[in-house]
Amino acid sequence: DQMQGPNGREEKIFVSVRLRPLNVKERVRNDVADWECINDETVLYRSHLSISERSMYPTAYTFDRVFGPECSTREVYDQGAKEVTLSVVSGVHASVFAYGQTSSGKTYTMSGITDYALADIYDYIEKHKEREFVLKFSAMEIYNESVRDLLSTDISPLRVLDDPEKGTVVEKLTEETLRGWNHFKELLSICIAQRHIGETALNEVSSRSHQILRLTVESTAREYLANGGKFSTLTATVNFIDLAGSERASQSLSAGTRLKEGGHINRSLLTLGTVIRKLSKGKTGHIPFRDSKLTRILQSSLGGNARTAMICTMSPARVHVEQSRNTLLFASCAK
Ligand code: ADP
Ligand code: MG
Repeated sequence: DQMQGPNGREEKIFVSVRLRPLNVKERVRNDVADWECINDETVLYRSHLSISERSMYPTAYTFDRVFGPECSTREVYDQGAKEVTLSVVSGVHASVFAYGQTSSGKTYTMSGITDYALADIYDYIEKHKEREFVLKFSAMEIYNESVRDLLSTDISPLRVLDDPEKGTVVEKLTEETLRGWNHFKELLSICIAQRHIGETALNEVSSRSHQILRLTVESTAREYLANGGKFSTLTATVNFIDLAGSERASQSLSAGTRLKEGGHINRSLLTLGTVIRKLSKGKTGHIPFRDSKLTRILQSSLGGNARTAMICTMSPARVHVEQSRNTLLFASCAK
């Protein structure tokens, strides 16, 4: 749910769910779609469960917005991410997350959203000639709590440091000043290539790693520039985060289950869940940003002067029902 507030603190996270169509693999297996969106806010489990089983699980879940299989990424962006994203041009930090199990549509959704967002930001710049804008782009991947620059061929881990002025910074992270749309697309293709390099070296990287694309928008009123004044510069960052597959956190949701060792747990994903739950409840006490690399890096874009959109992607297939329920539980906790 979202409320207008002057300082972001009282604004909640905008939570939406995107239900993708059954894919070929699922159809070939004769799987069926068990979930449907019955209106703009409700996703319903078309249950084959018995009445007694149904009482154990809710069958309808409501969110700020839900997108059914017929919805385009354009609609998901327009109604689920645009407003949050564009707050960056007026100096408010923003984060847009894709959360969901592997193959639910995170990358599909996020890659469309980053394109639409960039196009909108350039459009805004075009219409606001009274200010001079500078866009800076960087990209990183977090794998096993180690941070890698996706714009550099050097794959050695980057250090995350606390800077007394800037807050948390990723040391030596490449930051490119964008020269326009084509330059942005060039940088994106470098990121995709860099992600693939990791993927062949390490199994299943994309399901275990988080990708953060980060755009910093600086703007200064031209009249102040002409007078040599500096006081009206606005700077904010928007992050587009394609999270690790949520199956990496699902063990933690069933109480009493001991976390499995090794690749099954994902500290950043678990900590993100805790941080999001605390923020969405308006908790003002200790929020454990420092417990993982992801939440440390995103701290200034999550708490305080910041807006967040969480897009939870899910498969409609019966075979994935447990993971889909986990995703909806996570989404319910975030709203
Ligand atoms: P994830 O990043 O969550 O692992 P992907 O985005 O790679 O999942 O999606 C898995 C597959 O499903 C891809 O082939 C993708 O093109 C397809 N897909 C995902 N979402 C949709 C959608 N809404 N409509 C059509 N195809 C989709
Ligand atoms: Mg993916």
